[in-house]
Amino acid sequence: MGKTIETDVAIIGAGPVGLFAAFECGMLKLNSVLIDALAEVGGQCTALYPEKPIYDIPAHPAIAAGHLISNLERQIEPFAVPRLLGRRVDRLEGAAGDFVLGTDRGDEVRCKAVVLAAGAGAFGPNRPPIEGIEAFEATGGVQYLVRRREDFRGARVVIAGGGDSAVDWALSLRDVAAKVMVVHRRAKFRAAPETAAQLAAAAAAGELELVTPYQLATLHGSDGQLEAVGVKDLSGGERLLQADHLLAFFGLSMDLGPIAGWGLGIEHSHIRVDPATCQTTLPGVFAVGDVATYAGKLKLILQGFSEGAMAAHAIHPIVYPDVALHFEYSTSKGVPAA
Ligand SMILES: Cc1cc2nc3c(=O)[nH]c(=O)nc-3n(C[C@H](O)[C@H](O)[C@H](O)COP(=O)(O)OP(=O)(O)OC[C@H]3O[C@@H](n4cnc5c(N)ncnc54)[C@H](O)[C@@H]3O)c2cc1C
Repeated sequence: MGKTIETDVAIIGAGPVGLFAAFECGMLKLNSVLIDALAEVGGQCTALYPEKPIYDIPAHPAIAAGHLISNLERQIEPFAVPRLLGRRVDRLEGAAGDFVLGTDRGDEVRCKAVVLAAGAGAFGPNRPPIEGIEAFEATGGVQYLVRRREDFRGARVVIAGGGDSAVDWALSLRDVAAKVMVVHRRAKFRAAPETAAQLAAAAAAGELELVTPYQLATLHGSDGQLEAVGVKDLSGGERLLQADHLLAFFGLSMDLGPIAGWGLGIEHSHIRVDPATCQTTLPGVFAVGDVATYAGKLKLILQGFSEGAMAAHAIHPIVYPDVALHFEYSTSKGVPAA
């Protein structure tokens, strides 16, 4: 049985940008609700790289992605924002001042404005097309992200991919894993030149093995326990790599899903907004964070934070049409006691 919620602003997506948008709404006395398809808040930060340090959050020389999310959660505590997690919003009806959203779990949210902080949409990893892979996914033999580095202590790990994630994790896991093998179809890696050079140096020092140019071909094991990964080169040469885990980093698939059908100006899976307000082509519907695009857009968390502030200010007159909004610093206003 779904829930019924009435609020000022429905925020779709509880990634870092959605969480901070809830704070900015709260500071302007706008009630909000956070809705996310995932079971936990934090979007990409929680689901993809909780232990990785982020270096470009202002005033945090380095902060682990998971820690950033717990700080954002603490920051919105004073506003007691309700959350509907594990629910995908698949319906939007109405107009500015009176929207109704529906989720796949039968919830109904009535609100005056909508903030889409949907990131890359409902995201998922690109899975390599290997027969029988599902059995190994279920047991953790095959994984697409590293939640806890410690899970790989003493293990033989095959890492597949040529981008930043593959190279970063190969370098990181060489210190805990018994063996790290990096499979890539080219000898050259697409990762940042500095880390690609570190990878080559680590391979030369015997700290990990580069298996190039090879592609994943087969998985071997029984009862979901991975025992070996078969790889092939372009001329049909084969190798069998003894391994306990395969970590496949082939990027994310982006799927805006139902949002794509809401008549918003979608361009290559992004939503075009007015950069002054973050409003989409549909009045009362705003887009912030990775999902939003405009000239000069950078897909950075810090830019998404600022978009949350702009959207909240632009929403104020929709919720309080008769109240003039006087700009005030947080130092003057303070925050309510949690
Ligand atoms: C490995 C890695 C490293 C990164 N490093 C940095 C860095 O150093 N600095 C930096 O600034 N950025 C970095 N980023 C990018 C950063 O994580 C993103 O810019 C940020 O997560 C975007 O936040 P968001 O809230 O807009 O979207 P997301 O984090 O993608 O969250 C969007 C949420 O919306 C939900 N959602 C989507 N559609 C629906 C729907 N219909 N119904 C309900 N929920 C929905 C999704 O489930 C998701 O939880 C990195 C990304 C990766 C993958």
